[in-house]
Amino acid sequence: MSRIRSKDTKPEMVVRRLVHGMGYRYRLHAKELPGRPDLVFRPRRKAIFVHGCFWHRHVGCPANRLPTTRREFWRDKLDGNARRDRRNEAALEEMGWRSLVIWECETKDLDRVAETVRRFIGDARG
Ligand SMILES: [Zn+2]
Repeated sequence: MSRIRSKDTKPEMVVRRLVHGMGYRYRLHAKELPGRPDLVFRPRRKAIFVHGCFWHRHVGCPANRLPTTRREFWRDKLDGNARRDRRNEAALEEMGWRSLVIWECETKDLDRVAETVRRFIGDARG
């Protein structure tokens, strides 16, 4: 199985900077948690994934489109990624964690991302 993303991809960096600037502190890529969430808020048991729309099959998104060549290969691979994402989120939930996915295309509107994060995590000082 190949890697679905490398560390420090651009949308992830954008979200990290934003969330850090909002006053939240977090850990990165917690290896011991299912799916190695990108941002981990351990005391709150909350995790954020930043997902590329193509690689993780963002439903309804224009970027979620199979390449025109080797379609079956890509469909298997990308569907596999999406299935694994759902498994990881379910496993986290079973461990008492909540998770939020921020999609690459959503990072074009950072005000909205900030609002979503604030609603998900709660007050930065809490
Ligand atoms: Zn998208």
